[in-house]
Amino acid sequence: MVKICCIGAGYVGGPTMAVIALKCPDIEVVVVDISEPRIAGWNSDRLPIYEPGLDDVVRQCRGRNLSFSTEVHRHVSDADIVFVSVNTPTKTCGLGAGKAADLTYWESAARMIADVSVSDKIVVEKSTVPVKTAEAIEKILSHNTHRRSHGVRYQILSNPEFLAEGTAVADLLSPDRVLIGGRTDTPAGLAAVAALRDVYARWVPPDRILTTNLWSAELSKLAANAFLAQRISSVNAISALCEATGADVAEVAHSVGKDARIGPRFLSASVGFGGSCFQKDILNLVYICECYGLPEVASYWREVIRINDYQKGRFVNRVVASMFNTVAGKKVAVLGFAFKKDTGDTRETPAIDVCKGLLGDKAAVSIYDPQVAGEQVARDLAMNKFDWDHPRHLQPIIITGTDVARQVAVAADAYEAAAEAHAVCILTEWDEFRGLDYKRMFDAMHKPAFIFDGRNVVDVAKLREIGFVVYSIGKPLDE
Ligand code: NAD
Repeated sequence: MVKICCIGAGYVGGPTMAVIALKCPDIEVVVVDISEPRIAGWNSDRLPIYEPGLDDVVRQCRGRNLSFSTEVHRHVSDADIVFVSVNTPTKTCGLGAGKAADLTYWESAARMIADVSVSDKIVVEKSTVPVKTAEAIEKILSHNTHRRSHGVRYQILSNPEFLAEGTAVADLLSPDRVLIGGRTDTPAGLAAVAALRDVYARWVPPDRILTTNLWSAELSKLAANAFLAQRISSVNAISALCEATGADVAEVAHSVGKDARIGPRFLSASVGFGGSCFQKDILNLVYICECYGLPEVASYWREVIRINDYQKGRFVNRVVASMFNTVAGKKVAVLGFAFKKDTGDTRETPAIDVCKGLLGDKAAVSIYDPQVAGEQVARDLAMNKFDWDHPRHLQPIIITGTDVARQVAVAADAYEAAAEAHAVCILTEWDEFRGLDYKRMFDAMHKPAFIFDGRNVVDVAKLREIGFVVYSIGKPLDE
């Protein structure tokens, strides 16, 4: 029986391994992590991450051919294929701070693999890593001089993950493509690629499994995220022009997307992109371009982040300016805190910047999100954001723990958040926000009652009929 071990039981490692276990009942899959609470969560009825359909998949496989464990060394040692899906955040200090990927976790995982291995292994880069990381990993593994592991051979593959949070299970079950990069110029490299291809071939059609050299696979992941983020920044940049001219961004995006060369997906204007990947991966791309002496290419991609920051700042400014140039002492209901719907993930969510902007102007903020717990909100808002070295339109605002406690409340539902509020800001496109009883909310709010829709989920005409003053990203403004 082939044995797979995945190091890192996070948003990627957990769902990816659950789907592999589901589709390959003859393969034993173990997901290991150094975090005890995370593993305890995976072994409980309340999984540590929220993803539609994930509970079901885990329930079917756990105890059969899927397990979760903190016994990292034992399971890595036993495995034939070791996926590494640890976090690769942006470095916060030292060389490349604010841009380069922090590969500390990756390096320690590689050293650990080298220390505990007594049999040949295929090591799979599942984390998003800078192009050429496999070269460093090969060095770490080949220079290992540990007595037990003497003579062990490793093949490194790059198999970046393209799932999107919120649709992770569906994406894994039916991926647009699976990308496998390897040393395709050597027989051992080809055999390793074939072994991983065999795993995915159980459910992914052959024409969707792409094989490339290592560097193409590593760079494809960074490029894909940069292109996706660029699309959002492009439509967001157009949204500002729409508001200035009376055009409607939804109509413009629809018309633009009808061009088969452009396509309709990923063209929704919003308060900005978030999540743990887009900004981090573009910053990393910028850093790599600078390291390779390509400053023009670096500045091209940096603009994508600059527009994203601009969009978040523009939203906050719009709220404050509309409310007679101050939100001091006013209650603002924030609906949605996760960076997108169908996830509880708040990493780099635009809601953090928007809330900090409002708190900085002394608003009282009441937050409701169906999947984000109050402690998480408090942690996110108390955190001092790293001061990136690219131009920012949002001044970094330092919110202390005391300010958070005084100015931030977490509500049990949208109505509680909006009660006696002066304004409602919609920051995540949760489906439930489309069907709220806005008349009920309006009746419980101070007048004039404002709605600032950062995701274009509400029916602007209906809300104006109720009496709201409505601002919706990229839509013609209220008279
Ligand atoms: P995560 O933070 O949710 O999970 C990473 C896990 O690795 C953590 O639980 C951590 O405890 C564990 N870990 C770190 N070092 C370890 C070690 N030495 N041994 C055992 N466990 C260790 O991160 P994530 O969101 O799952 O992302 C993982 C990687 O996948 C990142 O490189 C990310 O860029 C990439 N990625 C993420 C997404 C996404 O949507 N989240 C999508 C595609 C790719």
